[in-house]
This record gives sequence, C-alpha cells and structure tokens, in this order.
Amino acid sequence: MSKKQQFVKFDKVDKSYDGKVLVVKDLNLDIAEGEFITMLGPSGSGKTTCLMMLAGFETPTNGEIYLDTNPISNIPPHKRGIGMVFQNYALFPHMTVYENLAFPLKVRKFSKEDTDKKVDKALSMVSLSGFENRMPGQLSGGQQQRVAVARALVFDPQVVLMDEPLGALDKNLRESMQYEIKHIHESIGVTVVYVTHDQDEALTMSNRIAVFNDGKVQQLSSPDKLYEEPVNSFVAEFIGENNTFSGEVVDISKGECKVKLDSGTEILSNPIRVKSKGERTIVSLRPERAIINPEKKMDNKHNGKIEEVIYHGDHTRVRLNMLGNSEFILKVPNSSARMDIKVGNELAVGWNSLDARALDPK
Ligand code: ADP
Ligand code: MG
Repeated sequence: MSKKQQFVKFDKVDKSYDGKVLVVKDLNLDIAEGEFITMLGPSGSGKTTCLMMLAGFETPTNGEIYLDTNPISNIPPHKRGIGMVFQNYALFPHMTVYENLAFPLKVRKFSKEDTDKKVDKALSMVSLSGFENRMPGQLSGGQQQRVAVARALVFDPQVVLMDEPLGALDKNLRESMQYEIKHIHESIGVTVVYVTHDQDEALTMSNRIAVFNDGKVQQLSSPDKLYEEPVNSFVAEFIGENNTFSGEVVDISKGECKVKLDSGTEILSNPIRVKSKGERTIVSLRPERAIINPEKKMDNKHNGKIEEVIYHGDHTRVRLNMLGNSEFILKVPNSSARMDIKVGNELAVGWNSLDARALDPK
C-alpha cells in the first residue's frame, strides 16, 4: 500500500489567543504518512501552538486540520489517535512504569492481556524491558524520557507529537536519544511531528524540516536542502554558520549577479532573492565553501587578514577581516593544517559564485 501524502494537513490555519495578534499565520502544511517532520524555530515562533492544535488542546482561529482526510476540529484529543511526548508532560510519579504505560490503554479500554502484550512491546522498543515495577523517581532522566516515548507509542497511535522531548537532558544523552528516537521511527514507521529550537537536532532526525519564524513557515525542505539552499536571510542565519556581506546589486543576468559591497568591492553572486539592479541584498556564504589559496579559475578571490585562530580538534576556525566583514569564518581541516595560519597574516580566500547566495536584506 502506498503512503498517503496528505496524512496530516494544516489548511490555511491561523491562531490568535487574544483575538488580535496572530501567533500562527496562514499555515499550510502536508505531512506524509510515516514521515518524520520537525518544526524548528526560535522561542515564541508558534511551534507548540501548532502541536497543541493538532493534539486538540487548542482550536484554530481560522482554517482546518485534517487527519487522514477527516477534519478534526470536532474530535476530542483522546479520540484523535495521537501520542504525545512533551518536555513538561512528565510521567505520573505515583505510578510504576507498567502503570504509566498501561494508562493510555486503560483509557482506550484494552483487555488486561492486550495491555500486557503492548506494554512489553513498547518497553522493549526503548530497551527498558524488566523495568515494569520501577517508580519514575528510581529512573535516570534519560530512562524517564524513554518511558515517556514508550507511553506515547504503546497504543499504536497514527501520529506521535514530540515537543522538545530532550530539552532537559545533557548533551551526550540528548545526542544518543536523538539516534534512539530516529531508529524507533525507522523501525515502526509511525508519523512523527517533532518540535525543537535546536537546529542540530532537527538536521539529525528529520525527513523534512519546517522552519518557523514569527508564526510563519519560512522554508519547508529536507535537511540538506535547508542547509545548502536557504531561501532567505532568516533561514541562512538560523541554520548553521553563515558569512554575510551587505551591498547593492549593480548588474544582474540569468544565474549571476554582481553585488557592490558596502566596503566598495564588487563580488559575483548567485541571485536567489534579488531580481533587479539597485536592490539591497545580503550575500550569504557557508564557511566550508570558502577555500584558502584558491586556484586561478575561481571567480571570487580576495585577501583577508587573520584576526583569530582557534583549534577545534578536527578543524581550525580562522576568523578573518575581509571585504568589510571582521567576522568572516573559515574552517580549515586539520589534516591540511598550515604554518602560515597565524594572527596578523594575510590569507587569499576564494569561493564559487554559485555558493554566494544573494538573499533578501531582511
Ligand atoms: P514556541 O513553541 O515556538 O516557542 P508558542 O506556540 O509557545 O511558541 O508561542 C507562540 C506565541 O503565542 C508566543 O508569543 C506566546 O507567548 C503565545 N502563547 C502561547 N501560548 C499561549 C496561551 N496559552 N495564551 C496566550 N498566548 C500564548
Ligand atoms: Mg514551544
């Protein structure tokens, strides 16, 4: 059976809490069956509000949400077949692990026999078989979150919502849980809508990412496209590291534009969000796209002065003052570490004009 492409559908959804300010604006989003989709954005951009509407704890002000082609506005939360893991949606502290997992099954009136089977299966999925009789207080933070994941999956929901589920864990645990959740998703194929403000987490886990800012989706793409081809300055700045130059378009043709930077130099760029001469633009270049001592054929070659050198194990970060940007970052692999990378030295840097993306001025 082929996967449904519009398994979850937000159709022209607006949300206002106070009747004045829209915190979600005209959200149109199709989520495919079995997809792992992440809503990524800064605090206050409307991510949790979207999940709450999908879960049924908030109602859209305008528009409709569909689950498997059915409008869901009038279906109460516990009848939507949606599992949830929220950072602050803790386990019931006075119940054992078994009782925590059995709870959603009891609400749905499963028999004792089916309940035991499903609890067994869910606990083994998160590698916690044998922990049935523990109380949550006797588990580590990571184990508690795994129980929460098991509880969200135990009744075989159609969709699982996770809102910053790893936010309270330390870095190492968070990273291993990211892989664990990703593997569970791959093995059972449930549709996951995940919320985070952490771009690394989103890039690691997702099939597609919807970048939110100010209640609007800025870009909806696969992780690699989002990183390699940000459509606007917000996305370029929010995802990964980014070198920027501001200036004005002085010449433009198909596939290429010439930008006169505020420092006076002209550079060749890729016209992503500019159309005509005279427009202001911010040119965005990923650090790893800039190369030291470029070959002659590179179409952008400039000199910068080394301001700072920081050793990072697998690479060295070099901060340059170049073309009026004193925060220009280069990443030099340490396998090619060089003697001349010293504060005060001049360095020749080049890049391909296709990688210098002329975006909106913000
Ligand atoms: P995010 O999850 O991206 O941080 P939220 O969806 O929680 O964003 O919040 C979006 C906006 O809506 C914020 O300005 C927030 O203050 C406001 N907001 C969220 N929940 C409520 C609520 N229950 N009542 C009023 N305003 C709210
Ligand atoms: Mg939130």
